[in-house]
Amino acid sequence: MTKFKIDLFSDTNTNPSLEMRRAMCEAEVGNEVAGEDPTVNKLLEIVCELLGKEAAVFLPSGTMCNGIAYRVLCQRPGDLIILDETAHPLIKCSGLISGLAQAQPCCIAGRRGIFTAKQIESIISAPQGFNTARPRVVSIEQTTNFGGGAIWPLKTIEEVCNLAHQYNVYTHMDGAHLLNAVVETGISAADYSQPFDSVWIDFSKSLGAPIGAVLAGSQSFIEEAWYYKFQQGGGLHQAGILAAGCLYGLQHHYQRLPEMHAYAKQLAKLLSEVPFIKIDLDEVETNIIIFEIKHPQFSANHFEQALREKGIRVLALDHIRIRIMIHLDISLSDIHEVFSAICEISETQLKIKAVND
Ligand SMILES: *Cc1c(COP(=O)(O)O)cnc(C)c1O
Repeated sequence: MTKFKIDLFSDTNTNPSLEMRRAMCEAEVGNEVAGEDPTVNKLLEIVCELLGKEAAVFLPSGTMCNGIAYRVLCQRPGDLIILDETAHPLIKCSGLISGLAQAQPCCIAGRRGIFTAKQIESIISAPQGFNTARPRVVSIEQTTNFGGGAIWPLKTIEEVCNLAHQYNVYTHMDGAHLLNAVVETGISAADYSQPFDSVWIDFSKSLGAPIGAVLAGSQSFIEEAWYYKFQQGGGLHQAGILAAGCLYGLQHHYQRLPEMHAYAKQLAKLLSEVPFIKIDLDEVETNIIIFEIKHPQFSANHFEQALREKGIRVLALDHIRIRIMIHLDISLSDIHEVFSAICEISETQLKIKAVND
């Protein structure tokens, strides 16, 4: 699919299998905007059950799920959305919070994307006046993408959500990687979702579908969501073709998530042997690995480039940190190949350093 032999840039970079394409090809379809697509309806029913929510809506992307949820939950322009400073909708979505939801982000410096009730208490409980922007939504990411796939503990979630609800603030869970947390902890998706007014899961991430996400919540929330789904161009027609790929991912790829986590942990362990890599193995919880390059002349950008020349794509988050995502199309032999490539780079760097010393 890509020109890279091994693509660890994102878990969206999967090639839908022939079987998935076949399921999509054979899907029963209808008009989605009229609620008449049987395959979409089946997907929604399954997701409502999975997340323990009353109603759900099919959307083309996770970004649209966040955008629509925020738009529904925020009422006045300038309302505050409290979220971690590394949150995906904040840094990767073209200014979605102000541009589309007409809200303001209120950024919290969490640890690996996770913040505590204590950290947001003074913001949530601040006295309100005619001239103060009102905290309206607390938004968390399970697992944290730019926090390195960290899993929010259920207790922390409950504390944050209880505090929010005490002050009539809504709670939203960006569940792009929720199922990764579920397979790792054994806590059900419904238990993770219970404290939230709105939640969504993505099928084009770990589950390997080409397109599709489902946003869930109460009946009245989803009715409002439909208004903005139309407004944002998310009203679809024979969307069953897409929903069939999502259903296939749930039925056939969901059970492969633990394997991906095992590969991530295995690769992390190998990386910890590389002299210029600093990695905390306890922090590799799911399919995402973030580590640091510790070398005076060799930055994360140099590292990214050196791997690119060997046909391997990773992401330099800044000049120090690299992010790797393990996905369905990565095999154990790929893990070993990546490690050998990094060892070669390491040897070259050591030689260069020896010459310079
Ligand atoms: C990928 C991702 C999104 C956006 O999802 P798309 O389906 O790519 O639009 C939002 N939040 C998180 C945490 C993500 O990882």
